[in-house]
Amino acid sequence: MSGPRSDVVITDFISNPNLEREILRDVADVRVLNATREDELAGRIETADAIIPYHYIVISAPTLNRLRNCKVIARGGVGFDNVDVARARELGIPVCNVPDYGTEDVADSAVGMAVSMIRGVAFLNSRLRASRGPWSPSQAAPLQRIRGSVFAIIGLGRIGTAAALRAKALGMDVCFYDPYKPDGYAKALGIRRVESLEETLGQAFTLSVHCPLTDETRHMIDAEAVALMPEGSYLVNTARGAIVDTSAIPDAVASGRLAGAGIDVFEWEQLKEDDPLVVAWRDPGHPAHHRVLLTPHSAFYSEQSLMDLRASTAETCRRALLGQPLRNIVNLPATTGP
Ligand code: NAD
Repeated sequence: MSGPRSDVVITDFISNPNLEREILRDVADVRVLNATREDELAGRIETADAIIPYHYIVISAPTLNRLRNCKVIARGGVGFDNVDVARARELGIPVCNVPDYGTEDVADSAVGMAVSMIRGVAFLNSRLRASRGPWSPSQAAPLQRIRGSVFAIIGLGRIGTAAALRAKALGMDVCFYDPYKPDGYAKALGIRRVESLEETLGQAFTLSVHCPLTDETRHMIDAEAVALMPEGSYLVNTARGAIVDTSAIPDAVASGRLAGAGIDVFEWEQLKEDDPLVVAWRDPGHPAHHRVLLTPHSAFYSEQSLMDLRASTAETCRRALLGQPLRNIVNLPATTGP
């Protein structure tokens, strides 16, 4: 390629852009900003031809307004709530996400959490390490067989579907609630469609949340919703924190309504020591201590998924800089290339 080289800026999260440089080697120079706040972008981002933001940074309208050459924002992730995509659209800047890098990894994490709770692995390991109870399966009683138990999915998108296939392979009775999915998927996957959230909750031995965070789904799973679940059921959330009101979990576990909960995502995303769930989970005297699994928004993570994510963002920039058609534009109908 002749002419001046383009300028690609990675705003945050990635500090060694070796992979991105390799993919863009004949097209652009790659700069990393290692920013953690939006104001740290000032004076460093305005000339960028393409921007790759991860999840530590917000890109709001004032920042977008200062961009002079930007041809694409390639968001390093699925969710794009940290970019003002509507303003980007007004400015003619396409925003693309990476919808598929962690589909399998998140589904594996969700089903893995469920299985380790249902089989008593997490509970027995936690209790016995703390020298609590007899060295026997009896203290985990009553455990239920996985095969035939209801695995209920909220949101049958990419990850929900991958979770459905895994749960099916375990012999679970898989059902889903997703009002936005056209008919056909239940038959294609050999699973059951449930018409209402209440009906879904009422039969969910395991409830696995896989919908996006929207006004409609915010706190969709609260104390009232959990109360509709069967006694001794399990809740798993690897989607977005605010979909579940986690303050309902300690009491639900203490009462036996929930036999366990696996939570990977939180309304806050740095550990909040005074969060009621964290307090109960840390307290060796609280039943949640042995029955709740917390992970730090790591459900997506494997070395392979991270490489897929980084490669996809760089490929998106490459396509935009070469004027080729873009995929995964989340703010259509913006510029879509030639
Ligand atoms: P997707 O867009 O493919 O699927 C989401 C599904 O939810 C769609 O089928 C949609 O119709 C459905 N949905 C929307 N509103 C709903 C509602 N009110 N009730 C029920 N269903 C509803 O998304 P995906 O790639 O499968 O991602 C699913 C979730 O996982 C998202 O919240 C995403 O942010 C999250 N995620 C988490 C991690 C992690 O590391 N924990 C990583 C990637 C994605």
